[in-house]
Amino acid sequence: MSKPSTIVIGGGATGVGIARDLAMRGVDVTLVEQGNLTHGTSGRMHGMLHSGGRYAVTDQHSAEDCMTENRILRDIASHCVEMTGGLFVQMPEDDDEYFQQKLEGCRECDIPVEVLSAEEVLEMEPYLSEDLERAIQVPDGAIDPFRLCVANAVSAENHGARIETHSEVTDLLVEDGEVVGVEVEHKSGAGSRVHGNEGETEAIYADHVVNAAGAWAGEIGAMADLDVEVIPAKGVMTIMNVRQVDMVINRCKPRGNADIIVPHETTAILGTTDEEVEDPEDFPEEKAEVDFLIEEMSKMAPILEDARTLRSYWGVRPLYEPPGTGTEETEQITRNYFVLDHDERDDTPGLTTVVGGKFVTYRKMAEDCADHVCGRLGVDTECRTADEPLPGSEDGAILSDAMDRYGLRSPLARRNKQRLGSRYDDVLSGADPNPVVCDCEGVTRAEIRDAIESAGTDLNSVRQQTRASMGTCQGGNCSHRLAAELHPEYDEEAARAALEELYQERWKGQRHALWGEQLDQATLNHALHASTMNRDRDPTDVSVDFESFDAGRAVADGGESDGD
Ligand SMILES: Cc1cc2nc3c(=O)[nH]c(=O)nc-3n(C[C@H](O)[C@H](O)[C@H](O)COP(=O)(O)OP(=O)(O)OC[C@H]3O[C@@H](n4cnc5c(N)ncnc54)[C@H](O)[C@@H]3O)c2cc1C
Repeated sequence: MSKPSTIVIGGGATGVGIARDLAMRGVDVTLVEQGNLTHGTSGRMHGMLHSGGRYAVTDQHSAEDCMTENRILRDIASHCVEMTGGLFVQMPEDDDEYFQQKLEGCRECDIPVEVLSAEEVLEMEPYLSEDLERAIQVPDGAIDPFRLCVANAVSAENHGARIETHSEVTDLLVEDGEVVGVEVEHKSGAGSRVHGNEGETEAIYADHVVNAAGAWAGEIGAMADLDVEVIPAKGVMTIMNVRQVDMVINRCKPRGNADIIVPHETTAILGTTDEEVEDPEDFPEEKAEVDFLIEEMSKMAPILEDARTLRSYWGVRPLYEPPGTGTEETEQITRNYFVLDHDERDDTPGLTTVVGGKFVTYRKMAEDCADHVCGRLGVDTECRTADEPLPGSEDGAILSDAMDRYGLRSPLARRNKQRLGSRYDDVLSGADPNPVVCDCEGVTRAEIRDAIESAGTDLNSVRQQTRASMGTCQGGNCSHRLAAELHPEYDEEAARAALEELYQERWKGQRHALWGEQLDQATLNHALHASTMNRDRDPTDVSVDFESFDAGRAVADGGESDGD
C-alpha cells in the first residue's frame, strides 16, 4: 500500500520541523522552499533560546511553551545550543513592582529563577552598568538557527523526505474545492547547487498540503482565495565585533524595543524592534533603527557606546491573532501559534496553515500540525521528535573526551568541535596539512573542505556551516582563501563567482554602519581586495604572460635563478 503524502511549503524552522515529524511517522513528504533553507525569518532572527521569561507577565501560554521546548532542544539539539544563561536586569528607572511581577510570572510558568544583587551581577558581567539595581537569572541561551534547520532537514531526508530548495510555489492546485497539490517554479541559487531544471514549472500532487510559509502564509492562502491574516512585523539586529557579555541580557521592563543582547559565538547581537510592514520581502532598512538600538542598549551596557559594530540585518515576524482580536501594537500581539484547518474554517479541505509562534517553539508547532495532518490522513503513529536526538547531537561528555586527542582547548576550537557533533573525528582529520583559513573564527581547511562537500560553490552556505568570514574582518582576510579551497574541484570561473557572491553578502550587512571605525575597516577591506588583490581590475582580464614566470625568477644578468 502506498504511503499517504504531504507537501510542506516553507523551509524555515516550522517547515523543516513538520517535514521531519511527518517523515518520522511514515508519511511521504515533499518540502518546497522558494530560496535556500532559512531564507525567511528563521535565518534572520535574534538567535535566542528563550526560557519564556520575556513572556512570563503578559503571555504565559507562550512562556510555558518556550520553557518546555528550551528543555527539549537542549536534549535533542545540544550541538546547536549554547546555554549561556540569561539575566533580566533592573535599572534605577525600572519599576520594582514589574520586577516582582516578572519573578512571580516566571515561577508560575515553571521557569527556574534566582534573584541576584547588583554586586553578584557585575561579578558575572563586568561590562554592565554599575548603576543597575539587581537582576533575575533565567535559563535563556543562544541557538544557531542555520544548523538547527539543516539538522531537521537532514533528519527528514534520512526518513525519506524530498527537500526541494529554490522551488517557489506559484499556485495551489484546487480541484472541486479541495487543495490537491502545488505548482512550483524551479530556480537556481545558493544551496548545494544540484537543482533540477531551472526555469521549469512542476505540478506536485499530495493528499494534504501544509502552509508553513511564515510571514508569507497570507500570500499562499490567497492562492486558494483564503484569508490568512498574517501581520508581518520587522525587527532589526546589530552584530558587535566582540562578545561583550557572556549571558543573554534582557532589560527588566514591560516588553518593548531594543532590550535584549544575545552573545553568539564570538559576537554579541543587539535587538530588536517591532514595526508592522506591508510586504515581508520589501521594506525600508534604516540607519536610525541601528542608532536607536545602540543608544538604548548602552544604558544597560555602556561599553556598547564605543564598541565596533560588524553588520546589521532585519527579520520579519509572522505574527497572527484570530480575526477580531484587534490588538493595536505589534509587540502586544501574542507569540502563540495557530494551526488553521481550512476544511473546518473555510470549507476548503486538503490544506492546513500553521502560523505565529517562536523559533524556539518550532518543534511543538510541528508536532501539533503533524498531529492534525495525521488525523486527516488516518495515520496514528505517535510523534517522536522530542525523544530522538538530531543528527550530530551527542552526549557532551563524548566530545570532551576527545579534547586532549586533538589538543582543542580554546573556546573557539571547542565550539568548532561542538558544531561538528558526532562527525568531528572524521572531519578534523580530513585535510593534511590543515592550516587555519579563517583567523577571526579559527576555522581550518578541513572544516572548510567538509562544508564544500555539501555546499559546492555556495560559499555562503560554507560560511553558515563553519562561521568562516563571520568574524571581525567580515571576510576581508579570508573570503579569497575560502574561494581558493574550491580549486581544483571547481574551475577558476566558478571560484571567482563564488568569491564575489560571498564578498557581496558580507558587504550587504555592513552598509548600515559606515561611520567611525566601521568605515575604516570597510575601507581597509576594500583596499585589500581592490588594490592588493587587484579585484577592481581583475588581472585575468589583462594579458599577462604567466608562463614566462614558471621557469624561475629572472636575475640581473639576464640568466635564470635555480629556482630555490
Ligand atoms: C527580529 C526578529 C527576532 C526574532 N528573535 C527570535 C529569537 O531570538 N528567538 C525565537 O525563538 N524566535 C525569534 N523570532 C521569531 C522566529 O524567528 C520566527 O517565529 C520563526 O523563525 C518563524 O519560522 P517559520 O518557519 O514559521 O518562518 P520562516 O523562517 O520565514 O519560513 C517560511 C519560509 O517559507 C518560504 N516561502 C514563502 N513563500 C514561499 C513560496 N511561495 N514558495 C516556497 N516557499 C515560500 C520562505 O522563503 C521562508 O523560508 C524572531 C523574529 C524576528 C523577526
